[in-house]
Amino acid sequence: MSKLIVDSFDGGGGASTGRWVNGIAEWVEADTAYLSVAFTWRLDDAYQRAIWYRQMGLKVRAGGPGIFTRKHYLADVAQIGGDCPDAIWRHNPAATIASRGCPVGCWFCIVPKMEGRTFTELPDFPVCPVLCDNNLSALSPEYQDHIVGRYRATGAPLLDANSGFEPRTFDDEVWHRWRDINRGPWRFAYDDAADGPHVERVMRMLRDVSPRRKQVYTLIGNEPVDACMDRIQQVIAWGGEPYAQAFMKLNALVKRPHVRFDWTERHLKQVQRWVNGRFWKYTPFYQYDASIRSNARMEIGQLLFDDDAEVISS
Ligand code: SF4
Repeated sequence: MSKLIVDSFDGGGGASTGRWVNGIAEWVEADTAYLSVAFTWRLDDAYQRAIWYRQMGLKVRAGGPGIFTRKHYLADVAQIGGDCPDAIWRHNPAATIASRGCPVGCWFCIVPKMEGRTFTELPDFPVCPVLCDNNLSALSPEYQDHIVGRYRATGAPLLDANSGFEPRTFDDEVWHRWRDINRGPWRFAYDDAADGPHVERVMRMLRDVSPRRKQVYTLIGNEPVDACMDRIQQVIAWGGEPYAQAFMKLNALVKRPHVRFDWTERHLKQVQRWVNGRFWKYTPFYQYDASIRSNARMEIGQLLFDDDAEVISS
């Protein structure tokens, strides 16, 4: 469930989900500049920032998920690692986290490798509108109660449980525990065919919740095309809204999906646009894809025509 969605939602009453910096948070304390890098594809930019801070005479410390799989990338310009508990707040002032780690161990996810397969609870977490725990429904019932209790006690709104709930552990008890305080979307993941029965059960449980508030992160590119498209269509049929995330390598230095099976990079991007732009509400994918292709052909034709006109007039 550890998917960081970058969108903004105002839950009313002046509270908001804030804004995410685009993958690199940076700040200076005393003689040290800190760089927290969320994504590996921002490492080149982080490297340049580190050089700039060093030229200003500062020491540089760097950490974050983006560093984890490439620990040596900044090693000649920064001290790597160390604890920095408030880094998440630097990425988004409305964000907080009440636990780290995840026991599930999905092969494509950095969380268990970086934070471990047992939960570390952070009971004194600052209560903020965006809660970024990796897997809320797999936490112990007592600790979930603790988190919910702190939101109730402080009166702070929970506008987005950003990484969401795991369908396999989302049961009636979890639903009743969180439904009165969660004012944002219900987020789940549908990562492969084996998740299907669990996602379907959860969608049924939330049948009275509007589709817009049932967001299902749907991984694509990790299975053949037909299997991924089936999962997207199932989410829609079960009354949820899919959000397509293309499979990427954990150490990718450019923000491009990793192509496997019968996918192409272009196909992955087209499906993401069709799903995340909600074009599926108006047209099936094969028609959407065909129209994009014919538009592209028209644009190329127009360019050729313009070139011809240029030649004729010169
Ligand atoms: S459930 Fe899987 S994807 Fe979600 S945080 Fe745990 S290991 Fe990562």
